[in-house]
Amino acid sequence: MAIRIVTGGISQETNTFQHELTSLEDFQKGSSRIDRGQDILDLEGTGTIYGGIIDEAKKNDVELIPTTFGRAVPGGPVTREAFETMRDEIVEGIRNAGKIDGVLLGIHGAMALEHLPDGEGPLLTAIREVVGPEIPIVAPLDLHTNLSDEMMEQCDAFVGYKHYPHIDTPETGARAMEILLATIKGEITPVMAYTRVPLIAPNQSMVTTWQSPLKKAIDRAREIEAEPNVVAATVLGGFPFSDQEFTGVATIVVTNNDKALAKQYADELAQMCWDLREDFAIHPTPIADAIAEAMAGEFGSVYVLADISDSGASGTAGDGTAALKGLLEANVRSAAVAQIMDKAAVQACIDAGVGATVTLSVGGKHDGLHGDPVDVTGMVRLIHEGGFLMAGPMGAGTRSSRGRTVVLEINGPGGIELQLTDLRGHPNDLNFFRAFGIEPTERRILVLKSAAHFRAAFEPIATKVIEIDAPGISSPNLHSFNYKNLRRPIFPLDPDLEWSPER
Ligand SMILES: [Zn+2]
Repeated sequence: MAIRIVTGGISQETNTFQHELTSLEDFQKGSSRIDRGQDILDLEGTGTIYGGIIDEAKKNDVELIPTTFGRAVPGGPVTREAFETMRDEIVEGIRNAGKIDGVLLGIHGAMALEHLPDGEGPLLTAIREVVGPEIPIVAPLDLHTNLSDEMMEQCDAFVGYKHYPHIDTPETGARAMEILLATIKGEITPVMAYTRVPLIAPNQSMVTTWQSPLKKAIDRAREIEAEPNVVAATVLGGFPFSDQEFTGVATIVVTNNDKALAKQYADELAQMCWDLREDFAIHPTPIADAIAEAMAGEFGSVYVLADISDSGASGTAGDGTAALKGLLEANVRSAAVAQIMDKAAVQACIDAGVGATVTLSVGGKHDGLHGDPVDVTGMVRLIHEGGFLMAGPMGAGTRSSRGRTVVLEINGPGGIELQLTDLRGHPNDLNFFRAFGIEPTERRILVLKSAAHFRAAFEPIATKVIEIDAPGISSPNLHSFNYKNLRRPIFPLDPDLEWSPER
């Protein structure tokens, strides 16, 4: 008889400095989605964890039983209603599945709820209560996971992404399925150990397209995974914009029934991150300097100005104006901005119609933490419903949307092309421009509201990437955040801290 595995999950990365909660409705608009039943299996072949999970299940004649899989664009804490609705559907799906051999969960790892600091732990606990202690539960984890004790207690094995941008979601999903299958067949008995490092780090220091400090530890994790009896070795950078006791860098090692070995390697990786702690600091470039450098570039250059402090993939306002203000002040030409979320401005452009010239005050309205509104005059060049297919290294084959999207042409043809959107977005695919009539390889400056995921698609076309210094709730300046729940002492907030892993 075929091995029977139930799957489903809830995936969202929570920025607790974002005041707007993530509701059940938010899970169903723009790029967010709740898939149920066959819709989950239809993720076959996509650049997502399910692309790998389903592929691996098919190769092994696994009967994969889908429940509910909700995923939302990063944002504020998930409402109790949204969490409990999807949790109950998943639990109900497991109950109705009959005799099962294992559970493969689709989770992120840094979800917080409006009423609890951790979303994944309680979800795992609810599932554990239904399946009992004997049925193995395995899950892939995002590299930005903030690892809670409850997550560790309730799961049999975790395996994290090793790339940021996360171009390895399918392979990590497949690896999780391999581990689950080996466990079910009795080939391995996974045991896990973890070490939490008293370190929070900016996203940019976790990027793996350069030899970042986190990348150095991940390289070592790959070597450890090649050792006998090691099943998986994971280095989590954590998600620093979530004010929880357990936020930060952590390591997890899974071995075949050797707890001491797992702990030894988890400690080694943790010590390595700690030793590199000074290297995790990020120093973004003043906007005026970045623009001047871009304008001085050779003909045909493409400069990516990354607005890393207002990153759509980090749950920020999405309406930060500092970069746009800089472009206007410098009177630049050949610039395209993805994007500023401003529903009222989108509506005003739609009301005016294609071809009309409008004067608007855009952005800076959501929370006052991402710059002031900026006055612009431009021609409404395009009005778009917003949806398009992703085709790049992340999420290929899935549909993305920032809601209704307008392209405003400022200072005439060849000036500044500003995308105004209903919803936040994280431009990590060239189609964030191409779908709206803008050829990114033919623009001098591309402003991207993205912490790092843009790199997978945009580094290959960029002359240079410059991380700009702007205000926002995904700023690499972690000293600027008013943490209340985070455990202390922690580096870099407590710079004199001394630490070593428990032995
Ligand atoms: Zn991530």
